[in-house]
Amino acid sequence: MRALTIIPGHANSAAITELDDLDPKPDHLIIQGVSLGICATDRDLASGLFGMAANGHNHLVLGHESVGRVIHAPVGSSCAPGTLVTGYVRFPDPIPCSACAAGESDMCVNGAYTERGIKGRDGFGSEMWTSHPDDVLAIPSSMVSTGVLVEPASVAAKGWAHIDAIGKRAWFAPRVVLISGAGTVGLMCGLLAAGRGLEVHLFDRLKSGPRPLLARGLDAHYHTGDISTVMQKISPDIVIDTTGAGDVVTEEIKGLNRNGILCIIGFSWPPLDLSVDANHLYREMVMRNNVTFGIVNASREHFKAAAEALANAEQSWLEELITRRLPLSRAVEGLLIRDDDIKTIIEIGG
Ligand code: BGC
Repeated sequence: MRALTIIPGHANSAAITELDDLDPKPDHLIIQGVSLGICATDRDLASGLFGMAANGHNHLVLGHESVGRVIHAPVGSSCAPGTLVTGYVRFPDPIPCSACAAGESDMCVNGAYTERGIKGRDGFGSEMWTSHPDDVLAIPSSMVSTGVLVEPASVAAKGWAHIDAIGKRAWFAPRVVLISGAGTVGLMCGLLAAGRGLEVHLFDRLKSGPRPLLARGLDAHYHTGDISTVMQKISPDIVIDTTGAGDVVTEEIKGLNRNGILCIIGFSWPPLDLSVDANHLYREMVMRNNVTFGIVNASREHFKAAAEALANAEQSWLEELITRRLPLSRAVEGLLIRDDDIKTIIEIGG
């Protein structure tokens, strides 16, 4: 069985590796890999920046954005053979902490969670994988080529759910949202924003290519250039930052409207050496009742919300977001960044 693997902590170790056949637990599903999405996290893992193999293993099977097809299900399982699924990424820490015990391992307090394809568990980048039936989400067969977007959309769904929760702290009637970074997660945030009747703005470095076209497909305004000029011009009530670039985020804090909320999803590595007048920044936050917060990962409820939103979205718009499709044999190539790409997917089989 072939798989896309890395040796965690070792740069340039990504390879297609022949692994032993699966040895599934009796209560587990056997799933044929259909496709795998590649994101910046996979690229960071392949650069040796972080990652952890499962206990007793040198290699980590990469991949946390998945579509697979069930080929064997234990008797009485809720997933029949033939069902299309996407796998949940994060698993509770073994203790578990109170957040994990409450079913919210995305909010894990002690950091001892595991993540498929990232931290302590093999991912979905193989011809076959196994899972407990409770650890996959069934998706409609119409999403065979777009289901890889459920995971990045789950992070966007978490962002919106938390913005809504924070918005309830006091009077809040948002009208304008800016999403910075028109990559996959940014566009997923935009898709969810468009369904809320907000005036949607997307900001990105790239002036041309599929990003402005996809923004147009959402009836969103598309901006490039200087973020502080854009912030001054539109004065957004909500900003969702998927760039994680310190200089961009700083301008977003400065230009947020009164009572505004800034949700930071991305982060960049290595950090920029920034000189910021922190006192001024804090003063602005105080005087404007602003909230700036970060999120990582997503709960299973966010996965479900994301799958539902994608099932109801224009499938052709979602397809346009997938800018590169490679076979498993060329998966290592998919880990190299290309400026004009949005989502690269690896077509495994099925
Ligand atoms: C994934 C998250 C994960 C995070 C950090 C992201 O790319 O979408 O599920 O928690 O990386 O490991």
